[in-house]
Amino acid sequence: MKPEINIVWFKRDLRFTDHAPLYFAQQDAAPILLLYCFEPSVMAGPDSDVRHWRFVHQSLQNMQEKLTDVNGSLYIFHNEVQTVLAVIEKYYCIKTIFSHQETGNKLTYDRDKAVKTFTQQHSIQWNEYQHNAVVRGLKSRKNWDALWTQTMLVSPLLVDETNWNFVELPAPMYVSLKGEELREEIRTVDTNFQEGGETLAWRYLDSFLKKRYVNYSKHISKPELSRKGCSRMSPYLAYGNISMKMLYQYCMQHYDKSLNKRALSNFISRLHWHCHFMQKFEAECRMEFENVNRGYDAIIKPKNEAYIQAWQEGKTGVPLVDACMRCVVATGYLNFRMRAMVVSFFTFNLWQNWQDLHFLARQFLDYEPGIHYPQLQMQAGVTGVNTIRIYNPIKNSQEHDADGIFLKKWLPELKDIPANVIHEPWKLSSIEQQLYNCHIGIDYPFPIVDIEHTRKTASDVVWSIRKSNKVKQEGNRILKKHVNAKDESSGIFTGRR
Ligand SMILES: Cc1cc2nc3c(=O)[nH]c(=O)nc-3n(C[C@H](O)[C@H](O)[C@H](O)COP(=O)(O)OP(=O)(O)OC[C@H]3O[C@@H](n4cnc5c(N)ncnc54)[C@H](O)[C@@H]3O)c2cc1C
Repeated sequence: MKPEINIVWFKRDLRFTDHAPLYFAQQDAAPILLLYCFEPSVMAGPDSDVRHWRFVHQSLQNMQEKLTDVNGSLYIFHNEVQTVLAVIEKYYCIKTIFSHQETGNKLTYDRDKAVKTFTQQHSIQWNEYQHNAVVRGLKSRKNWDALWTQTMLVSPLLVDETNWNFVELPAPMYVSLKGEELREEIRTVDTNFQEGGETLAWRYLDSFLKKRYVNYSKHISKPELSRKGCSRMSPYLAYGNISMKMLYQYCMQHYDKSLNKRALSNFISRLHWHCHFMQKFEAECRMEFENVNRGYDAIIKPKNEAYIQAWQEGKTGVPLVDACMRCVVATGYLNFRMRAMVVSFFTFNLWQNWQDLHFLARQFLDYEPGIHYPQLQMQAGVTGVNTIRIYNPIKNSQEHDADGIFLKKWLPELKDIPANVIHEPWKLSSIEQQLYNCHIGIDYPFPIVDIEHTRKTASDVVWSIRKSNKVKQEGNRILKKHVNAKDESSGIFTGRR
């Protein structure tokens, strides 16, 4: 007889605290196998980058450290989960797999379907638990708002730390299944990026709620100051190093005695948006590939490789765009407004398709498909239900980086240019260029497009299509499916700032 076990399959939920699958697995008498798979097929996806897997690796290391105190093991494989389960099933009777529901990309969705088939074929129970406030199979968004609050108020699920019954896999079996060692880049810390793990998630949250939050609303749009003024919780949420519920409850504990309640309220409303966007994606995941509003399929944007390359490398000749791109490549982070601005420049000024933005998914350390794709579409102006915003990169530069501190940090070729003229360096006379050690066209490019002309052309096209019946019909469908009418009027739930 094969020994009976349960499996807790970790995915984008890399923590021990308030973890429903772990909690419920502990309620059962069967011993638990803790399992994570670095899946080569998912790692090869167009949206995947070493920075994501490094964060995952760090999160898992943090979990393993915690397990040493209780003599437990978390088995990490570099292999497809179906392969791992198939071998384990040969030696053990897998009673139940416990995991969270994942609102991921098409690759992980298809993987989950294959796992479902496997569990059915082998009479294995698969218990999937709701991830934060994202409800699978939700029929209507009518009461979702109240549901979010209800979910956030439920007590966290805390395991009994003294009562573990872990499975130890036979060493030869683990060795034969665990797969190749992960690339060194994944296993090596890169100090330019936030480090993963439950411990650090709480440390970031603590420093935000005790000190940094005070400037939240003032600094949220500033490319440099937002790096401290915003919470920086996004990668910890994306990889589940902390549950949204615990984040919310900890925040509420600080609310009454906080010196800037307005800032905290603004922050809390964004926690709501997090789940709102993921709920949208959960309900209509074709958004990863197609315009959510099919009326915009009529727009043709010829691919321009030279534009795309210049944008990716931060060499468009538009300082704020270039500084943002170089910054996100180097650090994995940009604040919301700058993310929206670079997408606006790509899709409107350069007139490129948002579907060609996988590069950006790879750069964001906090890449979360459920937020990323709906946001890309909103910023690209293809939803038909949001105001179309074409960001002016010069105005944004003057307003949000008036002293040029962010520009100079990321564009060293502009470092000697005075702040009052740095935002439009192509306007410098040849004497000024000499004086400031920056020859436009040699040290730094001329803008690759005329910002005003391309803005006007894009605006004319997208606004004229917006008036079409197809866009309007689709707009009504989208509002009905994804937005509670009451919420739409407030703008909060459409994610407008
Ligand atoms: C084109 C584009 C792509 C984006 N892709 C992602 C992504 O892949 N992953 C991701 O987490 N966020 C994404 N965002 C939303 C937002 O920019 C980031 O959540 C935020 O900048 C993260 O920084 P923070 O944790 O310091 O945010 P804070 O301002 O401190 O906010 C706290 C949390 O609220 C949530 N949040 C904040 N703003 C938004 C928003 N506009 N929409 C949804 N949730 C929000 C995040 O979970 C964030 O961690 C994207 C925005 C745009 C415009």
